[in-house]
Amino acid sequence: MRKKIVAGNWKMNKTYSESVPLLYEIKDLLFKSKKGEAVLKVIIPPSLYIHDFYETTKGLKNVFVGAQNCSTEESGAYTGEISAGMIKSVGGNYIIIGHSERRSYFNETHEELKKKTDITLKHGLQPIFCVGETKEKREANEHFKVVEAQINDSIFHLIPDEFKKVVIAYEPVWAIGTGLTATSAQAQEMHRFIRSLIENKYGRVLAQEMSILYGGSCNEKNAAELFACPDVDGGLIGGASLKAKEFVEIIHSFPQ
Ligand code: PEP
Repeated sequence: MRKKIVAGNWKMNKTYSESVPLLYEIKDLLFKSKKGEAVLKVIIPPSLYIHDFYETTKGLKNVFVGAQNCSTEESGAYTGEISAGMIKSVGGNYIIIGHSERRSYFNETHEELKKKTDITLKHGLQPIFCVGETKEKREANEHFKVVEAQINDSIFHLIPDEFKKVVIAYEPVWAIGTGLTATSAQAQEMHRFIRSLIENKYGRVLAQEMSILYGGSCNEKNAAELFACPDVDGGLIGGASLKAKEFVEIIHSFPQ
């Protein structure tokens, strides 16, 4: 059965002393209700905090920690980089790959994203692979073409057993951090398209098992409508993951 997932991407926010009370607040709220128990919850802080967050959430049902990026390399003279193996060694389970901020500010190429995906899987971690079009591409009606190329170029080389470990996040760039959300119809249309690409490549059974998340100004007010779409299996949440109450309300937004 397809997994429901809510992942919180904290980006480069919160000092350590700010991060600890927020994590405890989220933990307390999760404890108080059984509602989101079956949802996989992934907290993705700056990598410096992964170990601590892992220790703090260890034993909590369906709560995982992840990283926002990893190196294309295993180890060596790559000053400032963090490897997938290191992330695993401190308790990380997921790695975001191809976030639009990394694609645009750090010029990450399809080839690099392919390597990051491979190295993440090699270490037994799950990539949260982000795709999404810019405003210009949507206005030019090229959004399907863009997303298809992103998937084709960086993850369609995987064999089925590897591919099924990938979580795909559709994040229209024009919706990230802008307060503009894709309508549920736009999200559903793209998610269904992504699932059809997977079906053509890997077959129906695998396509039906893949979790496809929506990201882009998703919050506690719009999550229920988005998560009610048949091909939307949860969210990758930026801004709203930094507010405990809102984040947990999003986790509670799946149809019961
Ligand atoms: C993100 O950065 O992945 C994201 C979805 O951000 P926001 O929710 O703030 O738009």
